[in-house]
Amino acid sequence: MSRATFAEIAAALESAQEILVASHLRPDGDALGSTLAFTLWLRSLGKRVTAWNQDGVTRNFRYLPGHELITTPESTPRAFDVVVALDTSVKNRLGTVLESVAAAGLLINIDHHVSNEAFGDLSYIDPSAPATGQILCEFFQDRGVALTPEIATNLFAAVSTDTGSFQYSGTNARTFDAASRLVAAGVNVAELSGAMYESQPRRRLDLLRHALNEAKFSCDGHLASFSLSLATVEQLGVHPEDNEGIIDHLRSVEGVVSAVFFEELPEGRVRVSARSKDPRVDVCEICGQFGGGGHPLAAGARIKGSLAEVEEKFLGAVCHEIRNRN
Ligand code: 5GP
Ligand code: MN
Repeated sequence: MSRATFAEIAAALESAQEILVASHLRPDGDALGSTLAFTLWLRSLGKRVTAWNQDGVTRNFRYLPGHELITTPESTPRAFDVVVALDTSVKNRLGTVLESVAAAGLLINIDHHVSNEAFGDLSYIDPSAPATGQILCEFFQDRGVALTPEIATNLFAAVSTDTGSFQYSGTNARTFDAASRLVAAGVNVAELSGAMYESQPRRRLDLLRHALNEAKFSCDGHLASFSLSLATVEQLGVHPEDNEGIIDHLRSVEGVVSAVFFEELPEGRVRVSARSKDPRVDVCEICGQFGGGGHPLAAGARIKGSLAEVEEKFLGAVCHEIRNRN
């Protein structure tokens, strides 16, 4: 895996004027928090910075300081000295962002996905970091950057959301070091946590109620799954971002090794979201068989076919891995 140093990345950014910062579609807290932290820092250096995300800032992240800076890709392509892709394991997860880049002097890729293809001219990939936000904390510390409360809040949100509030594997001493520095830089932990975890729309509860009713347990109770059809989405009026975290309820059950969420998409495909509690069941590898990727214990894919077809194929593959643990 090609590996640039923080110094090389900082030097490339310092000599640039026009910079684009982008992250993956269907963004999560790590994608948006990292994008905003980097954007705010680069702007403080006097750079002209554009922040794009294919899906913009979904409503559940409008508490992030500076969130209005993130826009969707423009229709007329523009040239940038440097394009920075954050938290994005493969180029196509940027959506149409790169189609809106007329020319990129240099592509920088900073990420923590083990499946990252190091597609940048300068790539910094650290799969031992549980969030891209943690890598950026380490970057800022290495470069001696003093963090504003706004930058620190975005990074804390990135790390907190991607670690399930500092619980998931990958959460390590460096994570708490980073969190400690962020709090010292002015994060209001209670206020931010309230916005992140205690301000869910009612719609989400309706979806959760439905999911708990419909959840299926298979593979001797080791596999929990839930399928969301387009008809149900319409009936409940749920938004794509309401799905976030529903899978955690399935995973939390005793005996469940893997939880899978299937979401029917309009174009004859299904979005699969998979979680594992056992490192011997590597959902990144399983999703890879279907053209997706992610992390060993949290991964996803978009698979062609009907809900029933994809469900059968994918659950079969996961159960096979569960049964073949040794
Ligand atoms: P989630 O299930 O929360 O959408 O995603 C879990 C992890 O898998 C994230 O790190 C995400 O980037 C990755 N992931 C989700 N969907 C896809 C996909 O379609 N392709 C790839 N390569 N990674 C995905
Ligand atoms: Mn991430």
